Amino acid sequence: MHSPRPAVVARAPGRVNLIGEHTDYNGGLCLPFAIRLATTATVTPRADDQLRMTSTEAASGDTLWQRYVVGVVAELRAAGWTVPGLDIGLASTVPLGGGLSSSAALECAVATAVAGLLGIPLDADTRRLLAGACRRAETDHVGAPTGGMDQLASMLGAEGHALLVDFADPGGPATTPVPLPVTAAGLALLVTDTGVRHSLADGDGGYAQRRRECEAGEPRRLRHVTTENDRVRAAVEAIDDGEWDRLGALMTASHASLRDDFEVSVPQLDLAVETANGAGALGSRMTGGGFGGCTITLVAADRAAVVREAVDAAYAERGWANPVHHLVEPGPGAEVLSTAG
Ligand code: ADP
Ligand code: MG
Repeated sequence: MHSPRPAVVARAPGRVNLIGEHTDYNGGLCLPFAIRLATTATVTPRADDQLRMTSTEAASGDTLWQRYVVGVVAELRAAGWTVPGLDIGLASTVPLGGGLSSSAALECAVATAVAGLLGIPLDADTRRLLAGACRRAETDHVGAPTGGMDQLASMLGAEGHALLVDFADPGGPATTPVPLPVTAAGLALLVTDTGVRHSLADGDGGYAQRRRECEAGEPRRLRHVTTENDRVRAAVEAIDDGEWDRLGALMTASHASLRDDFEVSVPQLDLAVETANGAGALGSRMTGGGFGGCTITLVAADRAAVVREAVDAAYAERGWANPVHHLVEPGPGAEVLSTAG
């Protein structure tokens, strides 16, 4: 009889981007944070070479998601890790395709569990390496032209902190934790999921088109990138100085730029932003790639309920389905939860 094979459980969070959108693939700045919604991966080594996987969230009949997992393992092997065949079980509280990066949470949970299985410590260098491997899993194996912010936030996020990422650094993305004491300031961060779904894996989708337009140097698109980088710098200063009204104004300006110059908003996002601001939020913007997904709103904690009710009412007035709201706060990055046999 052989002893029971060891299983490793790891969790990796989704993320929300406070400010700095469509800047990652343009060598710019962004300021995401890891949220408490997360994906857990349980990995057990197999005697053979195969990868077998199940997910409690996968839609029945959908197998596309398996490419994320296969891609992560392939990239870790390409990086020189000796990864055995695996049974992989996934469960997630991150809404799929909702702009909170369930894809990065999935990739990073698998990668972190494999690191745990191989006994590789999760120091900053390893976290960076895993973020890169997970990004390539998504770009090269799934075909989603994502810029790398999501995986960095999931791997390097820290409790109570946002993560300033500078993609201009020649040594690879430079990351700096930025304390984000919103709760202590009596504020809340409200994510509103419009329910409108995008697909980053769609090569002909708007996201890929925007990337091509940026590469081609289209002035209006690049104006967004330049002004957005300035807003990220100003946002970090505002946070450092505790100037929350200013942070809110920068978020709203970011939304206007994404709507007017970058043209990645949709009416559902615009209405959520306008309604939140009209109901007394400090600021609000679409977050994530756009064409649907979520907004993030900075609001006094005691006004968060008023804001969400106002948005619900505005949607109802248009005959749109109720959006789903999440109060989010900066939580820890990916971690191994257990290595019990
Ligand atoms: P987002 O990352 O914003 O949630 P994406 O379109 O990038 O949106 O990724 C969503 C896709 O990721 C899903 O359609 C699915 O293929 C895959 N996925 C993410 N999490 C899971 C999960 N827990 N189980 C199965 N598939 C998942
Ligand atoms: Mg994604």
